[in-house]
This record gives sequence, C-alpha cells and structure tokens, in this order.
Amino acid sequence: VFDVLVVGGGPAGAAAAIYAARKGIRTGVLADRFGGQVLDTLAIENFISVKETEGPKFAIALEQHVKEYDVDIMNTQRANKLVPLGKVVEVQTASGAVLKAKSVILATGARWREINVPGEKEYRNHGVAYCPHCDGPLFKGKRVSVIGGGNSGVEAAIDLAGLVQHVTLIEFGAELRADAVLQRKLRSLANVTVITSAQTTEIHGDGKKVNALSYTDRNTNASHKVELEGVFVQIGLVPNTEWLKGTIALSRHGEIEVDARGQASLPGVFAAGDVTTVPYKQIIIATGEGAKAALSAFDHLIRSDDT
Ligand code: FAD
Repeated sequence: VFDVLVVGGGPAGAAAAIYAARKGIRTGVLADRFGGQVLDTLAIENFISVKETEGPKFAIALEQHVKEYDVDIMNTQRANKLVPLGKVVEVQTASGAVLKAKSVILATGARWREINVPGEKEYRNHGVAYCPHCDGPLFKGKRVSVIGGGNSGVEAAIDLAGLVQHVTLIEFGAELRADAVLQRKLRSLANVTVITSAQTTEIHGDGKKVNALSYTDRNTNASHKVELEGVFVQIGLVPNTEWLKGTIALSRHGEIEVDARGQASLPGVFAAGDVTTVPYKQIIIATGEGAKAALSAFDHLIRSDDT
C-alpha cells in the first residue's frame, strides 16, 4: 500500500512525488507518459530561475530530480478507474494492475483541443501555438491569428495585440462567444481584425514555418487566405478526467474541483496542475500546486489514526 500514489508524471506529478518522498513516506508515480505536455514544448522561457530551456530537456530534468528520491515510478501505465474504499483508495490501470494507496494525488493534466486541419501538426511549434502566455513573445512585431472567439480566444487576442503587429481573430460561429466586456476591449484595439462565420481550412507554410492561413466564409462559401507568421489555436483545453467521471466532483468543463489545499471531493484524494479548477495552466503553477497537494496529503496521513 502506498502512502501517496501520484497519478500523472508531468510538472505537477513530479513536484508532488518529490515533496511526498522528502517526508520519508512510501511514494509512487503512475504515468502514461512521464514528462507530460512539456515533452511537446520547444522553448520554455518562463520557469523562473531557468532563463531558457527546451521541453524535452526540462522533462529529463524532472525525471532525474524525482529519481534522486525513493519513488516507485511506473511509466507508460494508464489509470482507468479510481475506487474509494474507505481508508484506502484503489487505482486500476488499463493493463489490469490494481494499486492501493492511503492518499492519491491526481495530476493527469490536460490537452489542447486541435482544429485538425492540414498544416496544424506539421507546423506545431513552428508557428502553430496553443499558449499565448508561453509563446506570445516569440511573435513580437509579427502577424498572427487566433482561432476561437470564446473567452480564451478573445483574451489571447487582447494579450497578443499588445505584443504583435496584427491579430486576426477567427470565429466559426456568427458571433463571438466571449464575455461582453472582453469583446468591447477587443473591438477597441486598432490592430485586431475580427472575422466571424469563418471555418479555418488550412495552415500553410514554407516547409519550415507558417506563412498563411486559409478559411472559408461560411455565408458565401468563398475561400480567403491571410498572410501571417503565427496561429494560436484557442478552442479549448480538455482536462484528462474522462476516467474520473462519476467518482469525484468535476466542474462543468471537466476539471477536478479542489479547495485551496488541493483537496478534491473525496477524503484522501488531492489534485494538482492543469487537471484542476486552478486557473492559468502553466508549468510553474503546476509545480507549485503539486508541492501543495503533497503537503496536504502528508497532513491528511498524519491525522489518520493508522499511520
Ligand atoms: P501535464 O504536463 O499534462 O502532465 C500530465 C501527466 O499525466 C502526463 O505524464 C500524462 O501522461 C499523465 N496522464 C494523463 N492521463 C493519465 C492517466 N489516465 N493515467 C496515468 N497518467 C496519465 N507552460 C509554461 O509554463 N511555459 C511554456 O513555455 C509552456 N509551453 C507550452 C507549449 C505547449 C505546446 C503546450 C502543450 C503546453 C505548454 N505549457 C507551457 C503548459 C504546460 O506544459 C502545462 O501547464 C504543464 O505541463 C501542466 O503540468 P501538469 O503536470 O499539470 O500536466
């Protein structure tokens, strides 16, 4: 039986594992893909104290740091069921294993919803981006488009308008879906063009990086091409909680609801990082939340009578 079983091996899970192991308690990490989203990231320039690094390098550093401690790492293992059994929680994996723990930290992260058009995968990290806080500064003085007119898309467009030369916001529906206050702010900006009823059909490039985007006007069926250097896809971040539905409380977006200590709705179950309701999905936030969840789990253990 683990004292703390961490599910997820991204920045949040790694931080949770280190903080738990440093308490001298039996700690395990179950991860589908140790490293998480940073494995798909090129440059990281906002992890404070590390001026610049690359995602895969950062992932290796995470793993090396965890391996400094007595942590049982179970990589390439997918959790598919959480079963609360009173004093212990059971985690079942897709491969049929059953793990038991006195406390569990859920850190399964999230994934960006993709638009699935030609060019998106080819130019990912070469003009196609998903995180304005992360990659906005790379497009300083350039032309970009933001795909998606919900709150995140409009926030991204406002944010980017302060950095880049021009922003074209593309919305599939007839109207933007963002809050009125954001829409007002957006429309007040001189270097933003808003195009509605537009279906993105292709992201073009020169083989190395993005140079244009094509869309179809859904009213007229006419095809248009916009020349630009960057495309920010902002059509939603999906938390990896499909396997938890019905077991713990999730927000309407599917995020695990946690309190200020990282406690989820079941006793002994904590959560951290992009998978939770905590806003702003960033590495530095995920690591901080992971540390916090581990300290909360430890606190839970010392207050239970059988530890
Ligand atoms: P994740 O990194 O998503 O890790 C989740 C972990 O859980 C993975 O190990 C995954 O395999 C595992 N997992 C998922 N489901 C299961 C399951 N059922 N069973 C077992 N394991 C499971 N942030 C920044 O701060 N700066 C940046 O420059 C930056 N750039 C980014 C660029 C890109 C392209 C992307 C996609 C994201 C970027 N981010 C950046 C965001 C950052 O990567 C995330 O905020 C951060 O990785 C969240 O950490 P996490 O541990 O919560 O989740």
